[in-house]
Amino acid sequence: MTDKQLRQLPEVGNQIYSACGGQMTFEPDTPRAFFREEWVFFCSPSCKDDFDRDPAISCLRPHTIDRNEI
Ligand SMILES: [Zn+2]
Repeated sequence: MTDKQLRQLPEVGNQIYSACGGQMTFEPDTPRAFFREEWVFFCSPSCKDDFDRDPAISCLRPHTIDRNEI
C-alpha cells in the first residue's frame, strides 16, 4: 500500500508500446491497466476488455508469457 509501487504514467504525447507490441502515442484516455506492478497499455478499448476478462486470451498474452515462461 505504498506509493513506491505505483509507476508513473508517461507524459502525454510520449511514444509507448502497447501490450500487442505496437508503438503508439500516449494519450490521457489511452486504455491501460496496472498489471504486475507496471502500466500496460492497450491499442484499443476492446483489447482492454479482453484483458479484463482474461489476460491469457487478450493481446497481452505475449507480454504475460515472456515474463514468466519460456
Ligand atoms: Zn491490442
